[in-house]
Amino acid sequence: MRWILLIGVLAAVSLAAFATPFGGSGPDLQISIRQADEADLAVIYEWRKPRREIVLDGVAGGYRERRWEIETPGFELRRFVGSDRIVRTDGKKFSRVELTARPDLVRIEKEYQPVARYGAGGALVFTGHFWPMTAPKEEGGGRVNASFDFTPAEGGHVVAFGANEAALADWRSPMAHPAFVYLGPLDPVETDHVMALIDPDAPGWIVDEFNALVPESFDKLAALFGFTPETKPNLFLAAPLGRDESRLSYAGDALPAQFQITLEGAAWKEKSDKARGIFTNATIHEAVHLWQAAARPGTEEAPEWIHEGAADAIAAEVMVALGEWDSDAYAANERAARTECARELDTGSLNGAKARGDFRALYACGHVIALAVSRADGKTTADFWRDFIERAGDDGYSEDMFYDLVADRTGDRDFADALEDFARTPLAEPSRAIDGLFASAQSLARERGR
Ligand SMILES: [Zn+2]
Repeated sequence: MRWILLIGVLAAVSLAAFATPFGGSGPDLQISIRQADEADLAVIYEWRKPRREIVLDGVAGGYRERRWEIETPGFELRRFVGSDRIVRTDGKKFSRVELTARPDLVRIEKEYQPVARYGAGGALVFTGHFWPMTAPKEEGGGRVNASFDFTPAEGGHVVAFGANEAALADWRSPMAHPAFVYLGPLDPVETDHVMALIDPDAPGWIVDEFNALVPESFDKLAALFGFTPETKPNLFLAAPLGRDESRLSYAGDALPAQFQITLEGAAWKEKSDKARGIFTNATIHEAVHLWQAAARPGTEEAPEWIHEGAADAIAAEVMVALGEWDSDAYAANERAARTECARELDTGSLNGAKARGDFRALYACGHVIALAVSRADGKTTADFWRDFIERAGDDGYSEDMFYDLVADRTGDRDFADALEDFARTPLAEPSRAIDGLFASAQSLARERGR
């Protein structure tokens, strides 16, 4: 999961509401999204007050330039570092512009897909890439005060959180955050735990696993965290498997109260221990994020290894609790995280890993840190997160807050400082540094035992 554009959205939405020039609380912008042809969308922006440009967050790979077509004559899309802008070629103000948005031809890496085909006749839209900013993010822009209209193709549904309608008008996400919205013919399955949309192309065994796993793992997570998320989560499962028999790819994206899973590769067709293991563990990882979302990063600087590593560690705890893993399998998972983390840190520090494109470090090394903390304080990572959520409160969490909580729970500031050095410094010998963390954790555990 990535907390893309999470920061400041709530604040931006509420400030924008107060800044409405006409005194009312209506939106400054109406965004209409109509499903034109499967995953091709007809999009209309209508502003309450004329303006000179529409600022949109940047999407990797020049997506909009390649896949958006402005239908209103006299407009163009301009690309800037970190943003795209829609302007009139004569520079004049405007209030309305229409365009067609098409899905990208391949999955855009480390990015929410702006719109993706979702089973026959369906489309999954990520509103964040259609929802303009008041200014580019690096200039402190937040989201424009906007509401959405969604119209599916003839006879279709719109599904967003608890809503399953023939169309949605003047819609805003209940999470005040960019969200996934489905348009198309699928009817969602609503259970006590979730509102789920499952691609009819998904192999039957996957659907059976999913239906069994969700209630079991959600009950376990509710018990471990001590609460149930307020909004019933939306789960989306797509399976554009393709023909490649050797491929077994699982991509998951989580947002507050939503996650989506995309399975690719024909190796998913047959149930195997390997396929089942990946599916179970990765789905629980995504589910953990639904609970972690109760604590949001308070700044953009809060590193992703904090929540990604903990999601891996808590997923492993749930695998054991569900009887999916015995102690050998759990130990093998720990060894794999330590080995992968050491390899990833060969090229630089953990906190620099994302900028280097070493995304796996965020998972493996975050997992290593979570394990070392768990060993040192004698509690599970889920237990750590119960405290962490409480401490984060409404202001959100930071990296320093993480180390402070480690120091408080273990009673040892030196151990917390060692974790901080581990994350911030390029390490000459990463695997020795990892061994060192576990040795310190072990001696804290021994002291506690005395
Ligand atoms: Zn994740």
